[in-house]
Amino acid sequence: MSRRSAIIVGSGVGGLTLAGMLTRQDWDVTVLERSAERRDGLAITIWPNALRAVRLSGGDDMYEALLKVCQPIGSARMFGATKGQIASIDLRFLQDTYGVTGQGVTRAELLDTLIAQAGTDIRFGADVIRADTDGTVTLADGEVLRADVVVGADGVGSTVRRGLLPPGQDDRRENPLESWQGVVDRGGSWTYEGTDFHFGRKGTCGIMPLTRDRVYWFVDGSINEPPTGDGWPEVVRDLVARTPNKQLFPGQAWDRRPVRNWGRGRVTLLGDAAHPILPTIGQGACMAMEDAGVLAARLARADDLVAALRTYEDDRYPRVLKHFERARGMLRMRSLPAPVRDRMMGGMPRALLTRLFTRSTLPLPEFR
Ligand SMILES: Cc1cc2nc3c(=O)[nH]c(=O)nc-3n(C[C@H](O)[C@H](O)[C@H](O)COP(=O)(O)OP(=O)(O)OC[C@H]3O[C@@H](n4cnc5c(N)ncnc54)[C@H](O)[C@@H]3O)c2cc1C
Repeated sequence: MSRRSAIIVGSGVGGLTLAGMLTRQDWDVTVLERSAERRDGLAITIWPNALRAVRLSGGDDMYEALLKVCQPIGSARMFGATKGQIASIDLRFLQDTYGVTGQGVTRAELLDTLIAQAGTDIRFGADVIRADTDGTVTLADGEVLRADVVVGADGVGSTVRRGLLPPGQDDRRENPLESWQGVVDRGGSWTYEGTDFHFGRKGTCGIMPLTRDRVYWFVDGSINEPPTGDGWPEVVRDLVARTPNKQLFPGQAWDRRPVRNWGRGRVTLLGDAAHPILPTIGQGACMAMEDAGVLAARLARADDLVAALRTYEDDRYPRVLKHFERARGMLRMRSLPAPVRDRMMGGMPRALLTRLFTRSTLPLPEFR
């Protein structure tokens, strides 16, 4: 049998994770990336659901390589707007149950590691303008490529997705959730080893540890004004003030209600291209990695590749819909009037609070 081939459009977290998984199954994989070089960004958290998918569908070497650039997060504290700390949760049960807890990682280090693990060169500067359901892909310079399977992993503004939409369907994105993010040396002002959430009157702020004594922070708010940390506790103001400009990043996040059948013919979608969700539960990239794990698993045992793509979409739909709803639900909770929210969170039994904050991070049964 000749080698199976895949074209992956986009070298974000999802596309690269899938590339590494498929090359390990001896697929001939072409990754096409519009940008001229590896894209930047600041940091994210990745959780056991994503890392277990990588381990089971990609293998121990890929999993171990990722862990090398990650900083484990063993606990979380929540602070209210009307008083100081209102709650905390212990995340060590994730480590005990799944062998891994939540991890903080810079996007640069995550992407560099995934590129090194992809098992194929990334074709930077390759702008895809069209993907057809027979597996044909057209680039902006007129080049035409063909593969058994085409995966649109080209993010929230996906060109591949647009080509699959029924004529006239609206694909606009509106009202992004905006935040400023930064990465800075710890500097002694924040010594906690877990992650902190400050629920304020006008949004949320988070602080998370990274490797090499660095800290990632985000502060909700308009990206049209540079961040000052005003209105946030001293520790946040200090981190914001000390962050060099080149390590500040304006974040914009959109979501879109997932649709059930997001592929056609030899084409499917993965990650934000299929189902962008709000970052309020830290799961967008994790969902992209989990998609990759499920898709690689369905393709591994398929005689009929097109049928395997449809099975993948069917299997993923309920999961990504749940995460989409939970991310919106978390935004609603964050947006409650401060006294109500602080009382509710502060009064919640710890087991319930732990469940609320971690239920999205638990691996799928097939990856446990
Ligand atoms: C502020 C913020 C914080 C977040 N925090 C977290 C978090 O803590 N944990 C988490 O799991 N998720 C988080 N997310 C979500 C996460 O960043 C995304 O869900 C994730 O990056 C999606 O990965 P992807 O591979 O699907 O798409 P992307 O990362 O968007 O990658 C798509 C790639 O496709 C390329 N591309 C686009 N069009 C074309 C084309 N036509 N031809 C070729 N290439 C193309 C792009 O250049 C890009 O490299 C956060 C998001 C934001 C905005």
